[in-house]
Amino acid sequence: MLVVMNAHATDEQVRAVCKRIEELGFRAHPIPGAQRTAIGITGNEGEIEPGTLDELPGVVEVIRVSKPYKLVSRDVKEDPTIVRFKNGASIGGEELAIVAGPCAIESRKQAFAIAEHLAHQGVRFFRGGAYKPRTSPYSFQGLGEEGLKIMADIRDQFCLLIVTEAVDNESLDLVDHYADVIQIGARNMQNFSLLKKAGRAKKPVLLKRGMSATLEEFLMAAEYVMSEGNYNVILCERGVRTFADHTRNTLDLSVVPAVHRLSHLPILVDPSHGTGVRSKVTPLSRASVAVGADGLIVEVHNEPDRALSDGKQSLYLEQFDELIGQVRQIAPVVQRRVAPAGTVAARLDPASTR
Ligand code: PEP
Ligand code: MN
Repeated sequence: MLVVMNAHATDEQVRAVCKRIEELGFRAHPIPGAQRTAIGITGNEGEIEPGTLDELPGVVEVIRVSKPYKLVSRDVKEDPTIVRFKNGASIGGEELAIVAGPCAIESRKQAFAIAEHLAHQGVRFFRGGAYKPRTSPYSFQGLGEEGLKIMADIRDQFCLLIVTEAVDNESLDLVDHYADVIQIGARNMQNFSLLKKAGRAKKPVLLKRGMSATLEEFLMAAEYVMSEGNYNVILCERGVRTFADHTRNTLDLSVVPAVHRLSHLPILVDPSHGTGVRSKVTPLSRASVAVGADGLIVEVHNEPDRALSDGKQSLYLEQFDELIGQVRQIAPVVQRRVAPAGTVAARLDPASTR
């Protein structure tokens, strides 16, 4: 159920409706929109009797949301969600979010070399795995907390926001502490206890689509996070399993407009895991921006041939420069832009640091 408040409803009226909802044993989610505030009602104990909330001051109407996902839905919020960060960057607004970096943090030297290069290209978000979900237990598993500390230093040095994956409850607490965005990987998209914990975390959540998840399952996973009160969710298409074997996964770009139609949440595309092949990353980045993605997440390495994970899909630094140059040209066609390239010093003005 959804309570639509009058455009002029006061904060006090919104609070009073929320209080009534909670008294009835449900959870209230006030979601401010451009025109008016809507209050999503969740809880798994049935529904509130019709008429219970309609007469409260400031209420315009009470709507039954027929879709299984509620808070994620455009019914709750018509205008797109823009996730905003302290340094002025955002995800979901006019500026495309470019997230780039290695698959895994391997050493301080490797991570700093890559970050320095990216920071000069107009990248605002640095990605790097400290906890790696690997198919083989004998493959490099990540540096753990040491990797997180390296990335926190990268944030301070280059004014980059840190996006990194949490794989379990313990790593989620640490990622919430050190990073700026908590990534939930494809393999954990339906790890419901982890999703709920991410919903109680302070930082925004980047939720990757499971490798065989339908759109509805994907949105329901986001609903888990939002139902716990964390409304800063960013979706990410990263390819699904199909019969095709010319790529590691099949990048489902059609999901981007499909998500935008049903949900107010932003969606990024990951053409690195989506294809698994370096030569396909730039063409599919161009296509992702053209199809309306809110940004890209791309694996880049200073020495891809020596990478401890996903080297084959990691771009060389110069290849990334070409990619961002092309994306910069395509962006205006779809009313978007990419942050200007420039020196790190210029970006580090005192007003914009954390
Ligand atoms: C990653 O981004 O490093 C990763 C492991 O991605 P995914 O969960 O999409 O496989
Ligand atoms: Mn990877």
